[in-house]
Amino acid sequence: MTSIAHLINGETVSTNGRTAQVFNPSIGAAVREVELADRATMQLAIDAAKAAYPAWRNTPPAKRAQVMFRFKQLLEENKDKIVALISEEHGKTLEDAHGELLRGIENVEFACAAPELLKGEYSRNAGPAIDSWSDFQPLGVVAGITPFNFPAMVPLWMYPLAIVCGNCFILKPSERDPSSTLLIASLLLEAGLPRGVMNVVNGDKDAVDALIEAPEVKALSFVGSTPIAEYIYSEGTRRGKRVQALGGAKNHAVILPDADMDNTVNALMGAAYGSCGERCMAISVAVCVGDQVADTLIAKLTPKIKALKIGAGTSAGLDMGPLVTRAHCDKVRGYVDAGVAEGAELVVDGRGLSVAGNENGYFLGGCLFDRVTPQMSIYTDEIFGPVLVIVRVNSLEEAMQLINEHEYGNGTCIFTRDGEAARLFCDEIEVGMVGVNVPLPVPVSYHSFGGWKRSLFGDLHAYGPDGVRFYTKRKTITQRWPQRASHEAAQFAFPSNS
Ligand code: NAD
Repeated sequence: MTSIAHLINGETVSTNGRTAQVFNPSIGAAVREVELADRATMQLAIDAAKAAYPAWRNTPPAKRAQVMFRFKQLLEENKDKIVALISEEHGKTLEDAHGELLRGIENVEFACAAPELLKGEYSRNAGPAIDSWSDFQPLGVVAGITPFNFPAMVPLWMYPLAIVCGNCFILKPSERDPSSTLLIASLLLEAGLPRGVMNVVNGDKDAVDALIEAPEVKALSFVGSTPIAEYIYSEGTRRGKRVQALGGAKNHAVILPDADMDNTVNALMGAAYGSCGERCMAISVAVCVGDQVADTLIAKLTPKIKALKIGAGTSAGLDMGPLVTRAHCDKVRGYVDAGVAEGAELVVDGRGLSVAGNENGYFLGGCLFDRVTPQMSIYTDEIFGPVLVIVRVNSLEEAMQLINEHEYGNGTCIFTRDGEAARLFCDEIEVGMVGVNVPLPVPVSYHSFGGWKRSLFGDLHAYGPDGVRFYTKRKTITQRWPQRASHEAAQFAFPSNS
């Protein structure tokens, strides 16, 4: 079985230590194994990044951006190979994997603007014959820790921008589907990046803890589940590091009686069941304002959910593939069982699904629950599977209160034709990313991505303008060149312009 090693200082490094199996969830069998780094291996990457930093820091931003231009080109040339690897190890459909890669490439395009993004600010005559400017300087060695559900896109939220800002990077990808991540990183080296500027170290908690504890690592970007996000945020900041840690979600869609129902239903189908619900922006709760909205929605959703085309992610033309691992599939099934036990009405039950020819795959059909209450675990918890729950309320205000009281605040959306209602929703809702008739309001690369409440720990969102601020520190320089003929007396009052 092929073993996946690390990419350190421009070379493939294998340490023959612990390994984990990497599965193809469509067939339910291990296809590769991945090395799990120990602390010594992580230290090799940290040392390589540290050694590469002085020269990379002083490389002109325009030259750094040129590497990103070549990287983008290589990503496009190798698109099919990358997409096939994502789909094989994650299980998502080829079309979905393609979409993920394209959204990742948009972050590389944003990074190509580095000279503009790093220009700084300048004030002439800030005082008498004094000029002042602010500069955005890199942090040094920075690291990223990423989840299984976007093995291409989420790492691309981080390192193109970090690197183009002048930092050296260590990526610890998900050990569940590392192959596409590693292939993409190798293309960045092929694009001409100097050795040591980008390193990929595979592993689990041991590798992550080595990054948290290393004094050389100045910043950590994390995307994954909330308990781990909170752990990394508290342990990282306790050690004086800059940390942005993006966590889990429970995203609500509010449907008002005046919504265009056919468009709403189609939007919900993609947002709830696309990628088998394994998206941090997936819609998992439909909040229906009024019984008539709920009844109409259910009548229209039910046949569509039953007709979902489900099969091996690597076959073309499907709506949904399998869940990522057997353990995760069992967990999601457990939530469906719990929903039934808690008294919710299971309108569509996907538990009986069997995919011909792929009987061992980790498949679960689309599930729909009605009459869900805020106390039920299928409402409170992030299920991360193809399960949509309907909560019935009587007013927009009640819907908003429900959302605002939930512990997560990643994404949400409202379906309506009423501009006043939509504006109120955008103003008052306590969620970081809001859609109006847009079910997956994932910001484009030149905005920034982040939730509120327990969906994000830290102050700055991922990528875009916040990403530039996260990966740089501001230095403000105040400068005067004394005129030869004049001598100033000592001033003991605090200097000011008045
Ligand atoms: P996860 O938290 O299990 O793993 C994420 C990363 O943390 C992986 O690299 C993993 O190796 C590492 N890790 C796992 N356990 C650890 C531990 N005990 N100590 C240190 N590191 C550890 O998440 P996942 O299952 O890979 O991904 C799914 C989760 O990610 C969902 O909760 C989803 O909502 C979230 N997610 C959030 C966003 C966002 O932008 N907010 C985006 C994508 C995914």
